[in-house]
Amino acid sequence: MTRPISATIDLQAISHNLCQVRQQAAHTKIWSVVKADAYGHGLKRIWPALASGTDGFALLNIEDALWLRQAGWRGPILLLEGFFDAQELALCHEYGLTTSVHSDWQLAMLAASSGKKPVNVYLKTNSGMNRLGFRPEQVNSVWQQLVSLTQVGEITLMAHFARADQPGGIDDAMVCINQAAEGLDIPRSLANSAAVLWCPEAHYDWVRPGIVLYGASPSSHPQDIAPFGLQPAMTVNSRIIAIQHLNAGDTVGYGSRYRATKKQRIGIVAAGYADGYPRTATDATPIWVDGVMTTLAGAVSMDMLAVDLTPCPHADIGSPVELWGRNVLVDDVARAAGTIGYELMCALAPRVPVVTL
Ligand SMILES: *Cc1c(COP(=O)(O)O)cnc(C)c1O
Repeated sequence: MTRPISATIDLQAISHNLCQVRQQAAHTKIWSVVKADAYGHGLKRIWPALASGTDGFALLNIEDALWLRQAGWRGPILLLEGFFDAQELALCHEYGLTTSVHSDWQLAMLAASSGKKPVNVYLKTNSGMNRLGFRPEQVNSVWQQLVSLTQVGEITLMAHFARADQPGGIDDAMVCINQAAEGLDIPRSLANSAAVLWCPEAHYDWVRPGIVLYGASPSSHPQDIAPFGLQPAMTVNSRIIAIQHLNAGDTVGYGSRYRATKKQRIGIVAAGYADGYPRTATDATPIWVDGVMTTLAGAVSMDMLAVDLTPCPHADIGSPVELWGRNVLVDDVARAAGTIGYELMCALAPRVPVVTL
C-alpha cells in the first residue's frame, strides 16, 4: 500500500478555461502563461491542452522555452522577464523567442549581439508597480534605439497591472501606459487574468492570462470568478489513515492549538506541509471529507493534518479527503491560510504523485 495522497490534473478543465478566456477576449491574441511549471500543474503535462487554442506561451525559464520548441511548438514563446545573459539572448535569436526588454543592460546586450535572425521584443514600461520596466517618459527613446537595431524585429509595448482586480484599479496605470505609447504606432500587451475578466478596455493586441487557465481566481474574493464558468484544474486528494476519539479538554497536534470542548472524533489525514498544504492554515480552513465539508483541527504537521469529523459521522479509515480542487476551492483554502491560490498551486510538492485526467 502506498501513501494515499495524490494530485489530479484535469486537462479538459484547462482547455475549457482557455475557451472561456477566448470568449472574454475574442478579438485579441492570447499568451497562455505557463511560468512556474504551469502554476504547479506541470508544463510538460499540460501544454497539449493549451496548444490548439492558444496563440503563444509565456514563461520565465529559457529551459522551458527550449523544451517547448523541442516538443514541437513552433508558435510564439514570450520570455516574461527577458534574457538574463548574453548566452540566453543568443538562444532567443536562434529559437525565435520573443523577449521582454525592461532595463538598459538588456538594451546594451541587444545592441552588442550578433544574432542573425532578428528577435521580437516586448518593450516593458513601468506603469506603477515599480518592479520591471522603463519609465513612461523613457519609452520613446528606448523604442527609437530598438528600431535602429537590425537585431530587433517586431516591437510590442508591454505593461503589467498591480491591481486589475479592483474597481478603477488600472486607471492610473492606463494613464502611464498611454503616456508611454504616445506617438508610437505599436501593438500592446497589458492584461493579466484580472484584466482579461474585468477590464476589456485593456485587452488591446495580446492578453496574458495565467491563473484563470487553471480555474482559480486572480482576486482575493473567490466568488468573483463564478460568472465565468471556470473549472478547477488541480484537485489534491488523500485519505483518513487514523481516527482519534477525544474527550472535552483534549488537544490535537503541535502546540496543542486545537482543544476539544466535548466528546469528538477527529480524522488524521495523510497530507502535510511537505506536500504543499499550507502550515498557516487556521482551524477555519475548509476541507472535504467523504462528501461533506468540515474544517481543519489544529496545526498542520509535515506529513499529516487532522480534521473535525463531527459533521461526518460516517467517515472512517480510508475515507476520501479533498484538500482542494473540485469541491473545496483552492482560493477558500488559501484565504483561510492567509495566502492566495497561486501560492498553493505553485507549491504542490514534487513528492505528491500526479494523475492526469
Ligand atoms: C504571471 C504574469 C502574468 C499572468 O498573471 P495572472 O494573474 O496569473 O493572470 C501576466 N503577465 C506577467 C508579466 C506575469 O508575470
